[in-house]
Amino acid sequence: MTTGTHVSQVASGVYRCTLPTGFAVGDVHAYLIPDQQGVTVVDAGLGTEESMAALEQGVRDIGCTLDQAHTIVLTHGHADHAGGAATLKERTNARLIGHPLLLRWLQPTAESRRAEDEFFERLYCACGLSQPLRETARSEQNRYRQMVRPVCLDAGAGEDDIVSGWRIVYTPGHSESHLSLWREHDRTMIGGDSCIQHISANALVEPDEECLGRVQSVAQFRRTFLKLRAMEISVILPGHGESVLDPQALIFRRLHDQEKRVAQLVAAIDTEERTVWDLASSLFPRHLKEPTLIVSEVLGHLDYAVTVGQVTSSCDRNGVARYRLAR
Ligand SMILES: [Zn+2]
Repeated sequence: MTTGTHVSQVASGVYRCTLPTGFAVGDVHAYLIPDQQGVTVVDAGLGTEESMAALEQGVRDIGCTLDQAHTIVLTHGHADHAGGAATLKERTNARLIGHPLLLRWLQPTAESRRAEDEFFERLYCACGLSQPLRETARSEQNRYRQMVRPVCLDAGAGEDDIVSGWRIVYTPGHSESHLSLWREHDRTMIGGDSCIQHISANALVEPDEECLGRVQSVAQFRRTFLKLRAMEISVILPGHGESVLDPQALIFRRLHDQEKRVAQLVAAIDTEERTVWDLASSLFPRHLKEPTLIVSEVLGHLDYAVTVGQVTSSCDRNGVARYRLAR
């Protein structure tokens, strides 16, 4: 049932509200869940005037007003989902809920930012990025950071917590702070960016909590896929694109995509020693201006290939990691 130009009912009592982002990924969905007390909003969009106006209109289209929003849940901290959290909270006074690891995104301190900057400088050096490429990567990251205005989380939520009658399922991989919402009785999941029908979401490289090492993002994503596969989900309502009506088939495809990417990297390494950037630039020659994305894609899968024993790595004197096939 369509209720307006950009709002449609996608499950019993759940309305999808499509918001503009201006990003390459296209529009993002917020989900509106009205109840007797008001409305729960899942994800806040980018927070631009255009996006906030679309959200406000969406809430009106389902017969409510924005100030009736009592709960905001963030599936993860990326700008297209969490950028609008501060503005939405100011306008509604709603409780803001998300995974505790969101603090890095929502309440950065000068110290946490410095630790993150140092982590990424070390990481990009180890990946073999030249100075100009490292600068491109850092400015790309800073641009996204600045799109998320600082805001306090009112409550952390993790596995099995209940929020507005939905059970929280921890679904890391795309981001370590990623969670989904699950309604058992009709096996409906609001899945953020964990499972998107038309694109395979990146497992983005993130530092661990102390900013000393990195999260094993692809291995984490695989565990999430296996967990979701076991849940017999009827429908996943994603952050982008159409509802996932055959989650089992899509999860199978995404697991297979990861195996294919590892096979592609193994073939590209061949008999040589390669850096992450050697591999990223040869696999994605059309995306050289987006080093953070392609480095994440390659490094995450290389980490996984090392874990399963297909590839080994060692660092040279300058701290640059080189990968070769395991014998
Ligand atoms: Zn995301």
